Amino acid sequence: MSKHVLITGASRGIGAATARLAALRGYAVAVNYVANDAAAKGVVDWITAQGARALAVRGDMSSEADVERVFGEAEAAFGPLSALVNNAGVPGKIGRVENLDLGVLKRTFEVNVYAAFLCARAFARRASVKRGGAGGAIVNVSSMASKTGSPNELVHYAAAKAALETFNYGFAAEVATEGIRVNAVSCGLIETDIHAEAGDASRLARYATRMPMARAGKPEEVANAILWLLSEEASYVTGATLPVAGGR
Ligand code: NAP
Repeated sequence: MSKHVLITGASRGIGAATARLAALRGYAVAVNYVANDAAAKGVVDWITAQGARALAVRGDMSSEADVERVFGEAEAAFGPLSALVNNAGVPGKIGRVENLDLGVLKRTFEVNVYAAFLCARAFARRASVKRGGAGGAIVNVSSMASKTGSPNELVHYAAAKAALETFNYGFAAEVATEGIRVNAVSCGLIETDIHAEAGDASRLARYATRMPMARAGKPEEVANAILWLLSEEASYVTGATLPVAGGR
């Protein structure tokens, strides 16, 4: 079966690094994003310049209709998907729960949790060997916040990632005999735009020295772990959450 991966939120950060590495490892890559056309085009141009195949597919992965369209566009371009990376995520705004806006709470769960469910459902409907598919692998991108709870900052986000990890574990068992492996990476502090989006770009430098390795991680370091979990080298690994967090 040819290698074809859909990576959600692949225009920037961890998703973009994963898209580049997947292309170097022989995958055709569907580069999903929600708004930043130029960034997605940059990732696709980089991949095609390496002689590999990539397609930018815009869509809000918390929307059922967009998920179906994005899967359809990816398959029309490169054939059946063999892998899915549920990477798209939003942090919401930094703040205490007593000040939390319901809209922010809903959006945080929509993108970090609902999108992963919808994409995993779409993938399983196509790839499950019980449905005539060829199997495959999924990686969910989670956060160490699920363990720390991120008090005074991002409790809503931490709770969403905890839900994602429980989904990871339960869904992995559900499809374990259907040729689909499901794993997660739990990221520590990674150098991306997400901290500025949460409302505090200085957060990265402030927390970096508190990590056991005394530095933030690079998106490429997460991409390495994701590509391993997708690979045959991880053939007996499912339902796992692998910390990629510099010792946390
Ligand atoms: P990022 O640099 O802010 O990039 C976010 C990506 O998600 C962008 O490609 C964005 O597309 C896309 N996106 C946002 N909402 C979407 C939606 N509804 N549908 C499809 N795509 C959507 O983020 P990152 O830091 O790389 O984070 C990637 C994942 O790692 C997230 O799940 C995040 O929670 C997790 N994580 C990150 C860290 C960290 O320290 N960076 C730590 C723990 C976990 P546009 O470019 O079009 O906006």
